[in-house]
Parts: sequence; structure tokens; C-alpha cells
Amino acid sequence: CMIDYKAADHLLKDKVILVTGAGDGIGRVAAKTFAAYGATLVLLGRTISKLEAVYDEIEVAGGAQPAIYPLNLEGATHKDYVELGERLGETFGRLDGLLHNASLLGKITPLEAYHPELWQQVMQVNCNAPFMLTQGVLGALKASEDASVIFTSSSVGRRARAFWGAYAVSKFATEGLMQVLADELEHTGTIRVNSINPGATRTQMRRKAYPGEDPQSLLTPEEIMPTYLYLMGADSRGVTGQAFDAQS
Ligand code: NDP
Repeated sequence: CMIDYKAADHLLKDKVILVTGAGDGIGRVAAKTFAAYGATLVLLGRTISKLEAVYDEIEVAGGAQPAIYPLNLEGATHKDYVELGERLGETFGRLDGLLHNASLLGKITPLEAYHPELWQQVMQVNCNAPFMLTQGVLGALKASEDASVIFTSSSVGRRARAFWGAYAVSKFATEGLMQVLADELEHTGTIRVNSINPGATRTQMRRKAYPGEDPQSLLTPEEIMPTYLYLMGADSRGVTGQAFDAQS
């Protein structure tokens, strides 16, 4: 489903929200947007200089002081995620929002030629890391009165296409992870879990996947934010286990 939504000014006031891959593309804009609606952001990513730039942009815009959490999802282990959960607990006492946004595209190539090492890297970043991260911060999510977990899918995570390899498979797995978690947490009544397919969006990843395309023909990350705001804020309370499209 796709939604037509206008967020109220203080939709995310006092919310603590973690965004993965917050240094670039959709994650960067989502972090800035959530901050503009009142949230305190935890900016997680692998390139510190990019996270620092987003930190500065949020501060300049008058948002609440964010936290930077450098982590490479490719190499991170269970221990790192347990530590992340503990740090969130100590610093904020809870986590109200989690946007699993970071992903690797891998290579657009036939399965016959897909390098097994690259396959594992893509599955690690796109699917195993979101599982382990969620596990590590679940205690903090349970401590929130109203929490939202958003996974990032793709159109090839709903109907696969030739040459999309590990990326497509990882996005199917992401939808599965979303559904299992939503079902397990439905009884809490306080943690909703959904997925968003952003649709074709003007970022580095899209450019890498479609080098011949005119970026100006695509929506910007800013333009797809209504779905992210709807799912992150209290207006989506009670909505769980659903797959959303940010574009028609
Ligand atoms: P970008 O490649 O522009 O940004 C991805 C972000 O994830 C970057 O900040 C990147 O960090 C980070 N990241 C990648 N690998 C790791 C890692 N190992 N550890 C930590 N952070 C990492 O992608 P988009 O903004 O386009 O994509 C965002 C999400 O939307 C992804 O899940 C993607 O699959 C999905 N999507 C995007 C579409 C599009 O058209 N753009 C369409 C459908 C789905 P760094 O900056 O350091 O590289």
C-alpha cells in the first residue's frame, strides 16, 4: 500500500530514533527529516566524515543534538550489537524508532557469474546485520511506550528480476524478517514493524544500478519522506506487518 500523508509539525518530538546508513542517500535525508520533526537521532554508518556532516546539518537546522555511532555492518558481530543496545539503554533509556536503511547493491550480474564472496557480503549487510541489530536493541525498543521498526525493501524484494542476485534475495529475506518480527511482537501493542520499498530514488546506489539513467527523472529522497514519517510517528500506531511503497 502507498499513503498520502502530511505530518504534524512536532510528530516526532522527544523520540529517540536510530537510522542505519545515515551518512548518505535516503538514510541521510530520513535522519534530517526525523530531526526536523523533533526527534533525537542516532546516526549509524561506516563513514564517519559523512555522519559528521549530517550531524552538522541537523545542528545548523536547529534539531536536537544527535549521536554518531560508527559501525561497519559488514564486519560487526553479535557482541557489537549487544554493546549498541547497552549504550542506547545507558544514554536514552529506550529506543522509539529504528530505520534499517543501509544496504549494499552488490553486482548486477547473472547468478551463474555471481561471486560467492560478494553474495555473502550483500547478505551480511542487508539481512544478517538487520537481524542482529534488531536483536541487540530489542530491550531498548521494549522500553519505549510507542516504538516503530522500519525495514527497507525494494521492488525486487517483492518480485525478483534477472541479474539482481544477492540484492533481490536479501530483500525477500528482509520482508521475511519484517513479517516474523511483526508477528512475534504484535502482542506487545507497543512495537510495530513494517517495510518500505522506496521506489526509484535519486541516490548513489540508484546511479550505480542504472548508470545510463537521467537522475533528474527520479524523485529525490526528500520527496519520498511522507511514508517514512507516517510509519515512524504515532499516526501509524496499530499498523504492523505491512509492506509499504513510498511511490505509486
Ligand atoms: P546509498 O548507497 O546512497 O546509501 C546507502 C547508505 O548505507 C550509505 O550511507 C552507506 O554508507 C551505508 N552502508 C552501506 N554499507 C554499509 C555498511 N557495511 N555498514 C554501514 N553502513 C553501510 O543507498 P540509497 O540511499 O539509495 O538506499 C537506501 C536504502 O533504500 C537501501 O536499503 C536500498 O536498498 C533501498 N532502495 C533504494 C532505492 C533507490 O532507488 N535509491 C530503490 C529501492 C530500494 P557509505 O556512505 O559509507 O557508503
